[in-house]
Amino acid sequence: MKYYILFGPPGAGKGTQAKFIAEKYNLLHISTGDLLRKEMAAGTPLGLQAKKLINDGNLVPDEVVVGMIRNTFSSNKDVDGFLLDGFPRTIAQAEKLDEMLAESSEKVDKVLSLVIKDQTIFERIANRAKIEGRKDDADPKTIQNRIDTYHLKTEPLVDYYKKTGNYCEIPGEQTIEEVFKSICKVIG
Ligand code: AMP
Repeated sequence: MKYYILFGPPGAGKGTQAKFIAEKYNLLHISTGDLLRKEMAAGTPLGLQAKKLINDGNLVPDEVVVGMIRNTFSSNKDVDGFLLDGFPRTIAQAEKLDEMLAESSEKVDKVLSLVIKDQTIFERIANRAKIEGRKDDADPKTIQNRIDTYHLKTEPLVDYYKKTGNYCEIPGEQTIEEVFKSICKVIG
């Protein structure tokens, strides 16, 4: 089983690239953001719990997303691998993921990290707001909070994964096609 992480700030293009990568390499794309939005749309207790946090641009608790990942892994045993998009987002989540994989003597194969400037994040998210209508994309204050949260809680994962030797950076400001080509080169 292969485990790839698609890493990067909000608006880096993870969702767009994930669809191409998952198709080409026969991976199951898991986006914790998409899973949470489905829970919100269905009005489940979990969705209701997550709603305010997401709409304000804050992270949901680690145990919530770790539980979602664990369930998805255990109910999809017949795939070639997984492409994690938007998970992990904290050191605690990364540690839990490592523990989970170690239970079956597995590990993260590669961390594909899309790198873009804060200014580009802002422009991309503001643009996406017009297309997808996500509440957390609409308000500049919420976008800023998501960027700050990324720097504070998620960016430390760069050093975490650099130490493992499977961390690869990809310039995220190229065209969609160029980014995809660069990712494919890294996956090999
Ligand atoms: P995304 O679609 O990946 O941008 O995620 C949208 C929102 O869902 C984030 O701003 C968080 O509020 C929440 N979320 C998604 N993934 C995670 C995660 N791994 N940990 C905590 N919160 C998450």
